[in-house]
Amino acid sequence: MGRPPNSPLPSGERPGEGERAISERETMGSLEKGGAPSPCPFPAGERELAERARKLFAGPIEFLKSAPELKFLPEPDVPEIAFAGRSNVGKSSLLNALTNRNGLARTSNTPGRTQELNFFDVGEPVRLRLVDMPGYGFAEAPKDMVKRWRNLVNDYLRGRTVLKRALVLIDSRHGLKDVDRAMMRMLDEAAVSYHLVLTKADKVKPSALGALYEATAVEAAKHPAAHPAIFTTSSETGSGIAELRTAILQSAAS
Ligand code: GDP
Repeated sequence: MGRPPNSPLPSGERPGEGERAISERETMGSLEKGGAPSPCPFPAGERELAERARKLFAGPIEFLKSAPELKFLPEPDVPEIAFAGRSNVGKSSLLNALTNRNGLARTSNTPGRTQELNFFDVGEPVRLRLVDMPGYGFAEAPKDMVKRWRNLVNDYLRGRTVLKRALVLIDSRHGLKDVDRAMMRMLDEAAVSYHLVLTKADKVKPSALGALYEATAVEAAKHPAAHPAIFTTSSETGSGIAELRTAILQSAAS
């Protein structure tokens, strides 16, 4: 069953869990017709959450470990939020922007170099864990590498009870590609709730960004595990970063 792109889902989280979601109108602000989505101030009830998120991400954040295979996963003792996206989508830059650090996640122009899940502990004591999943969609990847990627990511998504939400990053210049749709289907099938995040928003004109946002929302509505709140971010200008931090904290708490 489809649902309108802007309808709030129950909080989240895995489809079927019932708590109130932040609607994207609340977290993301409004989308003027034909214009770019513009973050607006949080309503009073969520300002406190936004402030908590700001403080959390300004505090201690540590690389915990890399897991090239499932047997190396950390103990499932805190909520996890996983980041997925095509190589070069801006995932490392977004992780660095969210955590206010330059070198936390390595930015790289060597697509597909890493085939590991990287875990970052946020907070002291640890409040949540960010999981950097290996990028996908690299052109000349050997078949066995793609297979390895699929096995690792699929097994992680299906078996991880502490995984509260995934973020699927989409380059604002390119929009959804078939490899992104395949990622979305994997998440649908694993019943892991996810937000789409339009990255590099500074690279496109506001009108084009608005059109992309609308087209993306229409497509997201066809995916059972896609959360209706879609984020637009720029690691360059910082736009949308505070909103995403807040959504991450809320997802972790769900
Ligand atoms: P990853 O492969 O997904 O980790 O992507 P990176 O974070 O390494 O980014 C790929 C390229 O895009 C790098 O040259 C970044 O500087 C650039 N980039 C990433 N995010 C942004 C952004 O928000 N705005 C702009 N203008 N460039 C970005």
